[in-house]
Amino acid sequence: RAKESGRNGYRYFAVDMTARLTDRLELEADLRRAISNNELSLRYQPQVRLSDGRIIGCEALLRWKSGTRGLVPPERFIPIAEESGLIVPLGLWVANAVLKQAHAWQPHIDEDFRISINVAGVQLSPIHADGLLKRISEAPPADRNRLELELTESLLMEHAEFLEGVLTRTKALGLGIAVDDFGTGYTSIRNLKHLPIDRIKIDMSFAQDIGKGSEGAAIASAIIAMGHALGLRMVAVGIETSEQLALLTRNGCDAAQGYLLSPPVEVESMTQLLVAGQRLLPDGARPLENGRSHR
Ligand code: C2E
Ligand code: MG
Ligand code: MG
Repeated sequence: RAKESGRNGYRYFAVDMTARLTDRLELEADLRRAISNNELSLRYQPQVRLSDGRIIGCEALLRWKSGTRGLVPPERFIPIAEESGLIVPLGLWVANAVLKQAHAWQPHIDEDFRISINVAGVQLSPIHADGLLKRISEAPPADRNRLELELTESLLMEHAEFLEGVLTRTKALGLGIAVDDFGTGYTSIRNLKHLPIDRIKIDMSFAQDIGKGSEGAAIASAIIAMGHALGLRMVAVGIETSEQLALLTRNGCDAAQGYLLSPPVEVESMTQLLVAGQRLLPDGARPLENGRSHR
């Protein structure tokens, strides 16, 4: 009996594996055609300066609307794109689109406005980095200077030595560099000191711990203080409540991104916000009185 159920167990396992593998290969094949089928687009999520609510930049977030599958979430297709190497052409598509967008937005944005794009490790590997940097270097300086690359903390830690050269070249082209998902790895901010980094994006788990007891707030403020000690700008991500916003503002966090301020929006809406010079701090948030002036 035991033997029998063991064999059945194995068969179900094998069937399940085969189904999952087939599913994955089909998704990969669909994704391979996404660019030529015009199925990709970008949403933009504003980044807001906490001292005055001004939109100082935005993050470009990739969206895939497959003809057969509908909207596929990034958590589903990005990992497959990274493992299959498809992230290289997809990433070039994103960089191109953002450079064009930067050009179109020029009349409405300041010289320090940044549009950030997420970059996977393979895109900066020895064989692929040149292609990406070449494409960027061909754009007019005024456009490419609006770009910022977001690299995750874990990527930076695993490949710090190699990335140092690529990031130095990226900085020389006028781009900004941000560390994404900061605080999820086991990095001391000090390890980042020799890299040409401008901004740190504090992982959203920290903001979301604020209000769930005193620890979350204490850790978030310690991270902000450490970043500032190293001369880095600090951006909090995943801000959903005014309590989180108030605490981060009080602790001197420079900028924030999150559903409370704005979800990622279509390009038309982002353009409207920029044209109107819209400020995005919710009513009642008065950071100038509650925050900075007490520092
Ligand atoms: P990420 O870079 O950490 O981006 C932040 C994610 O948090 C986005 O999810 C955004 O929509 C979401 N978010 C923003 N504000 C809030 C909030 O207040 N609460 C919550 N719960 N979530 C919030 P999205 O757009 O689904 O992207 C997921 C991940 O996919 C990104 O995480 C990034 O790692 C990856 N990704 C997206 N676009 C690209 C791309 O063009 N290239 C690469 N390599 N990765 C990308
Ligand atoms: Mg990001
Ligand atoms: Mg993240």
